[in-house]
Amino acid sequence: MKAYIFRTAKKLLPRISPTEMIALRSGTVSLDRDIMSGFVDQKKFTKLHNKEHPYTYKETDYICQELQNERVFDTEINKKVLTVLNKYKAFSYIIKKQYNGLELPVETQSNILVKLTSVNPALGVTVMVPNSLGPGELLQNYGTEEQKNKYLPLLSTGEYIPCFGLTGPENGSDAGGLIDTGVLKNINGKKVITVTLNKRYITLAPISNLIGVAIKVKDPDNLLLSGKEGITVALLEKTKYPSLDTSNFHNPLNVGFPNGTVKGTIEIDLDDIIGGPKNIGNGWKMLMECLAAGRGVSLPASSLGACLATTYGITGYSELRKQFNISLSEMQGIQEKLYKIVYNTMLIDNSIRLTNALLDNGDKPSVISAIMKQQTTERAKDVIIHAMDIHGGSAICQGENNFISKYYQAGPVGITVEGSNTLTRSLIIFGQGLNKSHPHISDIVQSLQDDNLSDFNKHFSSMLAHTSKQFIKSTVNNITKTNNKEDQLINNTIMFSNLCNIISLMGGSLKKEQVISGTMADLFSQLYMGYSVLYNKQKYNLDERLYSICLAELNNEYRQSFLQLCQYVPIPLNILITISCRTPIHNKISIDDMQYMSDIVWSNTNVQQYIEKQIYTRNNILGKIKYAMKNTDQEARQQLIKDITSVGEYSH
Ligand SMILES: Cc1cc2nc3c(=O)[nH]c(=O)nc-3n(C[C@H](O)[C@H](O)[C@H](O)COP(=O)(O)OP(=O)(O)OC[C@H]3O[C@@H](n4cnc5c(N)ncnc54)[C@H](O)[C@@H]3O)c2cc1C
Repeated sequence: MKAYIFRTAKKLLPRISPTEMIALRSGTVSLDRDIMSGFVDQKKFTKLHNKEHPYTYKETDYICQELQNERVFDTEINKKVLTVLNKYKAFSYIIKKQYNGLELPVETQSNILVKLTSVNPALGVTVMVPNSLGPGELLQNYGTEEQKNKYLPLLSTGEYIPCFGLTGPENGSDAGGLIDTGVLKNINGKKVITVTLNKRYITLAPISNLIGVAIKVKDPDNLLLSGKEGITVALLEKTKYPSLDTSNFHNPLNVGFPNGTVKGTIEIDLDDIIGGPKNIGNGWKMLMECLAAGRGVSLPASSLGACLATTYGITGYSELRKQFNISLSEMQGIQEKLYKIVYNTMLIDNSIRLTNALLDNGDKPSVISAIMKQQTTERAKDVIIHAMDIHGGSAICQGENNFISKYYQAGPVGITVEGSNTLTRSLIIFGQGLNKSHPHISDIVQSLQDDNLSDFNKHFSSMLAHTSKQFIKSTVNNITKTNNKEDQLINNTIMFSNLCNIISLMGGSLKKEQVISGTMADLFSQLYMGYSVLYNKQKYNLDERLYSICLAELNNEYRQSFLQLCQYVPIPLNILITISCRTPIHNKISIDDMQYMSDIVWSNTNVQQYIEKQIYTRNNILGKIKYAMKNTDQEARQQLIKDITSVGEYSH
């Protein structure tokens, strides 16, 4: 019987390619494991911290002050931008102190990116790249001592400007697929890799002089003494490889940051492989390990910068702007939108606080990073679209008072890069989650891959025990309905754990069933967001009712996703779901709740100050809105409103 189960399970096991296996093994598990196991111990939150750092306020404010209105790149780099960024060592946040870097905690890096993006998203992108997955990160983790000593100090001072090129015309989402391929050759007694590079979309490439590239290496003549054929990461100094051509640039939605191509046929010196020749063929692993934490920080932070600035501005603007003799903010249709704006901004903020704390605690949770990347950029899109609508013509016409259009332009960048959202939602969050975050499945998969029947039996028994327990818990749990939002979240977590076990019976077919996998990803993400609200409540306690409404709405989202799931799962699984899960109750969000949320930024000083601390409001439109909101002198206020509601005018 056991052997039969073993054989059947092997058939059910989806084909996992070596690159997928590496991705699955990268990073650690964290709260994602707790959620999939059906219980999150909130006492753990007390051990997590979001440490403040002086750099966030002092140096970042200087950068904002000097560069908030500067365009970073049009057809060439704005020299002032580089001078100021280097003055404050803005390319060295992740570099260790021993290499002259600032070595800032994740929370601080995130706060800096939030603030920079709150004035200038192109600035955020420019600072983000050297401080996330790229040469600096790869060198610190895998470089030889010689490489570290040579490059890291000069990356810290900005003398080397890095970029990292993986993508090409044939390899987008399938990044390792048809990637540029190099051949190991012996030329004049020296081993080199000859390759024709054709990379596109590479951020900072037009201004970079230290170019990281990922290529596939082939060794037809068996020249390799160490390492193996496969994806490899090299670091190329522009001066050493003069035929590298980075002169062509793209124009990503006119946001104004450097982005372009890396082309040319070159012979790569084996000493320029990051970590040396032994790391030939190790590139995918290196990239995945760095990505595991990385995408949980930079893109979420830039989403938050955009959303905080937008929320702050638009909630103030809608009170100042009048039509039909009343403020926009008094109109229910506007309140409905403001409510959604505040709700999603708070979720982005709360989830970032929790994730930063987990990362600063040493976790490298790849699944949570994927959730964060997808959720924050997707929710930011919603915030910006609603805010554009409220801002009306002022959001459409360019000018110094238009504080939203720059985010409308930049938003799609976050959606597309570092694992395009559709792919991340449909394949990665739940697909990888099931294999990684689930308490037993990864062990079962490993035993099947190792053809180890005894290990399989052990893990399969644990899986059976866990499945039965969660099935019963979910069945019993759902008999009682509760209006308490925290209890709902806890119940939904038990239900989700049970759903994971049921859906896992789909085995390999889940890869194709992306609607199911994507909906499970939504459920997973909504729970993570829910716990982040509880985390924020515990740590910052901004406003009891705000948290309660956020949780109520999140639980409603969960309910919607659950109903969607039930529509698409195969009938036998639906029967199991019908027995063990009851549709969660719908929480009514009253008009009063909506009004409360739409008003909260300016009516609750805790919330107002919490936002003001994170964004930059000096000498800009946000500052004017703040001043007008506080100003009691009617005449001065009217004058300010006139200014705030005016739009850019240009003459021929
Ligand atoms: C402004 C900008 C900056 C960038 N910076 C860099 C950089 O610095 N370095 C670098 O190497 N790359 C960079 N990129 C590349 C970026 O990572 C790719 O654009 C991204 O990987 C998507 O590839 P693609 O654009 O070719 O889209 P495609 O891969 O063609 O995808 C198209 C659509 O199909 C979806 N899709 C694809 N496969 C699946 C699947 N299996 N299941 C479901 N949906 C799927 C995607 O989600 C997307 O919605 C940048 C791109 C942009 C636009």
